Amino acid sequence: MIIVMDLDHTAEQEQRVMQRLVELGLTGQKVQGTERAVIAGLGQVLQEHRDDISSLPGVNEVIRVSKPYKLSSRETHPADTVIDLPYGVKVGNGHPVFMAGPCAIETEDQLWAACKGVKAGGAHILRGGAFKPRTSPYSFQGLGVPGLKMLAQVGKELGMPVISELLSLRDLEPCIEYTDILQIGARSMQNFVLLEEAGKSGKPVMLKRGLAGTIEEWLMAAEYILSQNNGQLILCERGIRTFETATRNTLDLNAVALVKHLSHLPVIADPSHGTGKWYLVKPMSLASIAAGADGLMIEVHPNPDHALSDGAQSLTPANFGELAKEARALGAAIGRSFAEPPAAVHA
Ligand code: PEP
Ligand code: MN
Repeated sequence: MIIVMDLDHTAEQEQRVMQRLVELGLTGQKVQGTERAVIAGLGQVLQEHRDDISSLPGVNEVIRVSKPYKLSSRETHPADTVIDLPYGVKVGNGHPVFMAGPCAIETEDQLWAACKGVKAGGAHILRGGAFKPRTSPYSFQGLGVPGLKMLAQVGKELGMPVISELLSLRDLEPCIEYTDILQIGARSMQNFVLLEEAGKSGKPVMLKRGLAGTIEEWLMAAEYILSQNNGQLILCERGIRTFETATRNTLDLNAVALVKHLSHLPVIADPSHGTGKWYLVKPMSLASIAAGADGLMIEVHPNPDHALSDGAQSLTPANFGELAKEARALGAAIGRSFAEPPAAVHA
C-alpha cells in the first residue's frame, strides 16, 4: 500500500505510521522523489491493514498498489529515478548514455585499446567482464580479481565510472571495491540471495533481464534489490529466448517501452547480446533509443576476430564511434539528446 501523509503532518505522526506497520507485521519504506511525504507499506497487505493505517493521525490517503511489484512501480513512485555515478554521470535523467567496453577483460593492452576507443567515441561508462558466465566450463572464464583491478585503474585514468558482473556472493566484495555499478547478469536474475546482498551493499546495481524472464518476474527480481533500501537500480533488456534462432536472442523492444511505462527505473538496452551479430548492433541501438531506452550497453573489442568471448557481436572502436554518432543524432532529433561524456582527465 502507499501511505500519503497530510501536507502538515508531524515527524511523530510519521514515526507512528512506521511503528504501526511493524506491529502489523509489515515494513515501511519512505518513497523518495515525490512532492508529498509518501511511505510504502510492504508485506502481505490486507484490507484490514489499510483500514488500520488510514485511521492514524496525519495520514491523508492509503492507496492499494494493484501490481505485485511495489517499489519498482510507477504507482508508488511516479517520477523517474536518476542514478548518480562518479564523474558526474547520471543515468535516467532523460539524456541517454553509452556503457561500452569488451565482453571480457583479456589483457591490459586489449582493455586499454577498447576503453580508449570507446572514450574517443563519446562513451560515458566503461564495461568489462572479469567473472564470465560461460556456457562451457572449458571456455575462458575471465581474469577474476586481477581483471577487476585493471578495469578500476583504466576507469580512474580515463575519468569514467565502471561496471562489471558478479556471478555469485564470492565476487561481491571485490566488485564492491573495484566497480561503480554491480552488474547482475541474465543468468542470475532470479538468484534471490545475490539480489538481496547486492541491494544491501548500497551500490548502484544494474539488473539484466533473464533469458526466459517475463517482465513481471524481472520487476519482482528488482523488488529484492529495492526492498533492501537501495533505490540505485538500473534495468537492462538484453534479449530473450524465443523460437527464433537466426539471431542469438530476440531483443524485446516492447519491454523497453513497457517497462518505462510500468516503472520509474532507468532501462538500458543491450543490442550486443540481444542480437549476437555485430552488424545488427547499430540498427537495434537506434531502435532502442527510439523505443525510450535510457542508454545502451555495447560490446567493443580492438580485434573482434580474436576475442576470447562474444567476438561475433563485438564492434571495433571505429564502428562504435559511428554508432555513437548516429545514436546522438537520433536522440537530438527526438528530444532526448545524449548526455555529455565525462570530461577527459587523461589525454
Ligand atoms: C555480459 O554483459 O557480458 C553478459 C554476460 O551479459 P548477459 O548476462 O546479458 O548474458
Ligand atoms: Mn558478452
